[in-house]
Amino acid sequence: MLLAAMALLLPLAAQDDMARARRISAEAIGIDSHIDTIQRVLIGNADISRRLNYGHADIPRLHEGGMKAPWFALWVPTYYHGAEAVRRTLDLRDAMQRVLDSHPGEIELALNAGDIERIVKSGKIAAFLSIEGGHQIDDDLAVLRMYYRMGIRSMTLSHFRDNNWADSSTDTPRHNGLTEFGKEVVREMNRLGMVVDVSHVSDKTFYDAIAASSKPVILSHSSCRALSDVPRNVTDDMLRALAKNGGVIGINFGEGFISPKDAARLRSTISSMSDAPEMTGKTLDEYAAKEYQRDLQGSFKAAATIEDVVAHIDHAVKIAGIDHVGIGSDFDGITGPPQGLEDVSKMPALVAALLRHGYSEADIKKILGGNTLRVIRAVTGR
Ligand SMILES: [Zn+2]
Repeated sequence: MLLAAMALLLPLAAQDDMARARRISAEAIGIDSHIDTIQRVLIGNADISRRLNYGHADIPRLHEGGMKAPWFALWVPTYYHGAEAVRRTLDLRDAMQRVLDSHPGEIELALNAGDIERIVKSGKIAAFLSIEGGHQIDDDLAVLRMYYRMGIRSMTLSHFRDNNWADSSTDTPRHNGLTEFGKEVVREMNRLGMVVDVSHVSDKTFYDAIAASSKPVILSHSSCRALSDVPRNVTDDMLRALAKNGGVIGINFGEGFISPKDAARLRSTISSMSDAPEMTGKTLDEYAAKEYQRDLQGSFKAAATIEDVVAHIDHAVKIAGIDHVGIGSDFDGITGPPQGLEDVSKMPALVAALLRHGYSEADIKKILGGNTLRVIRAVTGR
């Protein structure tokens, strides 16, 4: 009754937009190329089969938002070194497996584009797995190959720090891009059928990876530097190179990524990142849990709004073209989502905003996963 009364207060056009947006969201494949939700499962033991009143994503809210095929990032902080980073990756993969095993009727592992289409059609969430940081292979291609065997289908080449073979966008360059071994990693990922992810890497690493890759690449969670000048975003020249490569940029919703008003905060977060003292095992895991809780407590209200996200989509479409833009929200990895997009369930509001900006349904469906599905198919072969 109250809802009906409120609906009467909304202009008729806005009601139409939201109804259309919900239908488009329901029909779209719904790929988000980066969410950090599995951290909450491993560290906080979150039951993501239920609609939770904290965090940004869980199975019910992914359905509400129409994002039915998220990439679950198995992110390991760079203060996990060597074999410790491999152990942490296994812990995250195990946490993911516990979700898959506990809720077989609601979520299923997707290994390729065909799997994603089939699983989404069956009404379940399709979980596509990535690892976030090349340090997680401990400089060993055999480890990379075993990750592939465990169903992991993408890797971000670096995280916030340089590793032994790839420079990061938020560290002092050590290698002038990718080393020879780094190029070998890219070629091995091409051969196996893993999507090369160039978010987080330095500009030079980005160009080196595109040159070394025989397949389209992805910027899984980055936005446009022309609109918000932070190193994690990409230049127009990089967007043009990405289009030429056939790849896709998943627009990041995070604080500072999309609004210069929040960028100072992101820059200070990056510069205040500490390198943890050498630790191993449980001590290191306890440190990681504390860091994670501290980050969560840093949650704040961003100045950025849903219109800023539209501006980044518009800019990327203008420079790279409609076939090269997608969504890489970084939900559960960001502390200040934009106003109007507080969690994944709000995604239809973004669709309504795109409709108001004149996007066609067909173009919106490309942004909501059609483009990223094309990259996955080109890389996995199916
Ligand atoms: Zn990230």
